[in-house]
Amino acid sequence: MTSPQPKRPTALIEDLVTSTRILINENVLDVFGHVAFRDPLHSEIFWMAAAGAPAQVTPEDVLPFDLDGNPIGASDAPVFVERFLHAAVFKACGELHASCHHHAEALMPYCLGARSLGASSQTGGWMGAKVPLWDSRTRFGDTSMVVTNMAQAEDLILTMGASTIVLLRGHGALVCGASLQDMTFRAVHACREARCNTIAGSIGSVTMLSDGEIALSATITPAAIQRSWDHWKSQLPAITHHPTTKGIQR
Ligand SMILES: [Zn+2]
Repeated sequence: MTSPQPKRPTALIEDLVTSTRILINENVLDVFGHVAFRDPLHSEIFWMAAAGAPAQVTPEDVLPFDLDGNPIGASDAPVFVERFLHAAVFKACGELHASCHHHAEALMPYCLGARSLGASSQTGGWMGAKVPLWDSRTRFGDTSMVVTNMAQAEDLILTMGASTIVLLRGHGALVCGASLQDMTFRAVHACREARCNTIAGSIGSVTMLSDGEIALSATITPAAIQRSWDHWKSQLPAITHHPTTKGIQR
């Protein structure tokens, strides 16, 4: 059974496409990553692109979903299996309105359990001293390492707690924010922080931020978010259209 299509929030859909392109250009979003946002008028609906190559996402590809991850309305477009991650965020966290799931190489070393990721510079204070790491094996045993249902996604959000980022053991990350711009800031800077942690750790011991420094630097100002968005957006390459092959459902 299908519900009628809600009115399309066109400006935010354009921002989702821009966020996706920025995150690709900044080496955050990989081929299996995706971005979502909560509908501004209907808090029980979120929007994300149909399954396909992220670099080829257009506004027409962006579809509405309910908070159990079901597509809304009549569409035969393929959907990402891991859409449940976004559904669980928007279901559990009323203050969060945008999210990104990715498998960035910069973060992957911190998804493997050897060392935790934490804040070590002024643009990483929002991450806190230790980014939570969710291990699917704890509750679900051996899996394909892909989040395939709401039970897994809701368990992940419990691990995220009050943070806006959570790592998935052996898999990737989920980064959230109050807006697409806020989430984009966090997603880019989490990877930057991870790269700096990794490089610094390779040349010696790393001095992390103190609890006091984290408390004083944790808030990201609207000006910093807007400036970052404008900066990254201005560096996007011109769009070139290629024939697309849609249907990859991961
Ligand atoms: Zn994934």
